[in-house]
Amino acid sequence: MTKKKGKIKRNRKYRGRQRNTPSIYFLLWAVFSALSLFMVLFFGITQRVVMTQTYKNEAARDLAEKGRKIQTTILETPPESFDGNRSALLRYLSVNYDVDVYILDETGAVLFPQEPHFNHEETQGREPFDFSGAIVVLKEELAKTEANIPALYEGDGEYCYGEKISLYEHSEVYLYITKSINLVEAVSEQMNLRIWLLAVFMFLLSFAVSSAVSGWLTRPLAEMTKKARQLASGDFDVDFHGTDYGLEMVELADTLNHARDELSKTDRMQKELIANVSHDFKTPLTMIKAYASMIQEISGDNPEKRNRHAQVIVDEADRLASLVTDVLDLSKLSSGIDTLKWTRIDMSAYLTEILGRFDYLKETQGYKLAAEIEEELYTRADELKIGQALYNLIGNAVNYTGEDKTVFVRLKKCSDTEFYFAVTDTGNGIKKEELAEIWERYYRSSETHKRPVKGTGLGLSIVKKVLEKHGFKFGVTSEEGKGSTFYVYFPINT
Ligand code: ADP
Repeated sequence: MTKKKGKIKRNRKYRGRQRNTPSIYFLLWAVFSALSLFMVLFFGITQRVVMTQTYKNEAARDLAEKGRKIQTTILETPPESFDGNRSALLRYLSVNYDVDVYILDETGAVLFPQEPHFNHEETQGREPFDFSGAIVVLKEELAKTEANIPALYEGDGEYCYGEKISLYEHSEVYLYITKSINLVEAVSEQMNLRIWLLAVFMFLLSFAVSSAVSGWLTRPLAEMTKKARQLASGDFDVDFHGTDYGLEMVELADTLNHARDELSKTDRMQKELIANVSHDFKTPLTMIKAYASMIQEISGDNPEKRNRHAQVIVDEADRLASLVTDVLDLSKLSSGIDTLKWTRIDMSAYLTEILGRFDYLKETQGYKLAAEIEEELYTRADELKIGQALYNLIGNAVNYTGEDKTVFVRLKKCSDTEFYFAVTDTGNGIKKEELAEIWERYYRSSETHKRPVKGTGLGLSIVKKVLEKHGFKFGVTSEEGKGSTFYVYFPINT
């Protein structure tokens, strides 16, 4: 019931987070739309500013060139050509160069042609044949240019080219050529229309592309989410696939598969732990109960027997206590509530003291602990925790060593900055494939296991947690049938 409540609470929390997070589909759509908007704006502005200007410059350059040619033609054509009809010449030039050519006098009155050009009505905002305003502007523009350089300028809806010339029969007249810029604007207008069409097209495209891409991306994610939920509910048979969806999806699938394996391993090991621990709790308890009963019923009056029986009770109670300590230690270390108390330690002295704790094994069971300890090796660490780690390693060596009951312990300087601790036994060693796993919680190798003093499968994981917390290098080398060496490197504290 309580578990269920917790679950619902957590789910609510996550659901809150979901509500605030936009979907991948929306994000993609937003990104694609923003990108297409940016591109359309970019093209639009480029078109308006740069391209329109380029068109206009081109048109002006074109008019300047035509103007020069027309001017030369008029000046070089003798009056008798075109049957002496200048109007016909100007009309010919107008048609030929697609411009309007006029010759005006000082006041803007049209000397030639005598009729307006056929396309003259197109010129906006001006009476077809009234150049009184135009001549004023032309004169102003000419005043700005150097002598003999024609004026070229943008008038009202047209480009104008003008120059003071002398004809055979008229001196001091003005050649005035115009070219409507409506065409230029029409072209640019056309381009604008295309840009807007392109914008609409890009938006539709971004909509389609984001739908397709997000569908493609979210399909495997949705699938994985579904499977992760199955995994969360304890189904360790789920398999995550990410192939066909890109490297990242493959990596995600691999990570999830790895997480599944780890979860399933922990789950299996936890179940085994409960079985182990309850078995290991039960054995001493049964012994304690049995011997207590024996004292009550049989040996109560016999001091020698009673003492022997009481000693068994004390030993078994010790075993229970260390089992409980191990379980508690590991849970504290794993939850991270335990912080390290760093002090300076004389490891040489400390190791000798730890080895002293095994004296009773030497005396009662004939174990040999050969120690080679260099003097005066100091380090900084949490004394109690490091002591516990080394005690566990030596304890394991004792438990798993061979028939000769020998264990070698060494503490040696290996550089100016480091010294190492190593404990070697002569037991069966550890299989290569198990070397990595022995550090795992609750792991107990099936083969090498002979009932140790405290066999919970927690010893090495406590060692690992303690040394990792300190940041010390450690490891194991082992040869099957010959024995193993567990080692730790300590930084020297001078
Ligand atoms: P346990 O309480 O079972 O010794 P540990 O975590 O200390 O738990 O060790 C885990 C397993 O690693 C042991 O069950 C054993 O199989 C293996 N192991 C540990 N130390 C040694 C050793 N010195 N020689 C061989 N095997 C070892």
